[in-house]
Amino acid sequence: MSLFQCEICGCVENTATSSQGCTGGMERLFDWTGLEDLKGKKLCSVCAPRIYRDGTSTWFGRWHGEFKRTFLPKGKFKTNRQGNLEHIETGETDYRKYAI
Ligand SMILES: [Zn+2]
Repeated sequence: MSLFQCEICGCVENTATSSQGCTGGMERLFDWTGLEDLKGKKLCSVCAPRIYRDGTSTWFGRWHGEFKRTFLPKGKFKTNRQGNLEHIETGETDYRKYAI
């Protein structure tokens, strides 16, 4: 499990609550029709596809509620080796102080 920044909305998400951000091995599970621009990006549970490839509904399209949704300046954070968010420019890992 690790934290990442959603590439669409910029919020903090955990791989455990977003099917790994819908990337990697999880990507093939979803119906990307009309969402082609999102494919391959790390997505939070709100931005993730709402339909699986087999036509059944995912629970995505809404926040999971496992923790508070925190938005950060988009594109400014990466996941470091410890699985935490790190500010790309400063290397700081206390992402909460960048919350917007
Ligand atoms: Zn998002």
